[in-house]
Amino acid sequence: MRGEAILLTCEHASAQVPIEYRAYFSRAERALAGHRGYDFGAKEVARALAGQLRVPLVCGRVSRLLVDLNRSETNPAVFSRYLRELDREKRQQLLERFHRPHRQQVRAEIEQLLRTSKRVLHIGVHSFTPVLGGARRNADLGLLYDPGRPAERRLAQDWAAHLSACTPPLRIRRNYPYKGTSDGLTTQLRREYPARAYLGLELEINAGLLSPRRRGAREPRARMSPVRLARSIAASLRELV
Ligand SMILES: [Zn+2]
Repeated sequence: MRGEAILLTCEHASAQVPIEYRAYFSRAERALAGHRGYDFGAKEVARALAGQLRVPLVCGRVSRLLVDLNRSETNPAVFSRYLRELDREKRQQLLERFHRPHRQQVRAEIEQLLRTSKRVLHIGVHSFTPVLGGARRNADLGLLYDPGRPAERRLAQDWAAHLSACTPPLRIRRNYPYKGTSDGLTTQLRREYPARAYLGLELEINAGLLSPRRRGAREPRARMSPVRLARSIAASLRELV
């Protein structure tokens, strides 16, 4: 027992684009509906997990192609190439309307949890596409963390061990398919909160594990419903905190 309070977020939960911005995406319907538009299955897993663990969840409300909630405002990648023509003022409006409120809500949840717990374990729930640029990704779940924070490193190690023991066995990799220290919400929050108050991990789910069509799966592998996957994750987290 470590006693952390868990907070879940799902930055790429939605593929929505408000009507006033739809014209920019008139030729991007496929991109919006695919992994570039949102994280397939991540919201369903995050919701099930929040319900099973009875912990708060903050979900993004718009597509990452409109404004990417997991990029800093100053990162050019916060806006996608579809918004190349959008002027500075309208970009500011997008930040004010969607980006800042999401981050403010996450901070408010952290502050709330810190009133009754010494430390918050923030888990950003994401999914990744099974095949990218012809390369097949060889993990079911990735755990992203900052190796420079010993408490995060230990937690990721222990969590991976608990998850590996699930049935059916899941292939777990750490800091894969991305680095936990890349620009993102957890990276930003680590700058704002010390490790004694905040641990920021990201859970990356291989979308092929959740897809009814077994997206990109060559060999038959176990497929899990979001609720079932959430149950395994919840069990592993109960062992952990
Ligand atoms: Zn994501």
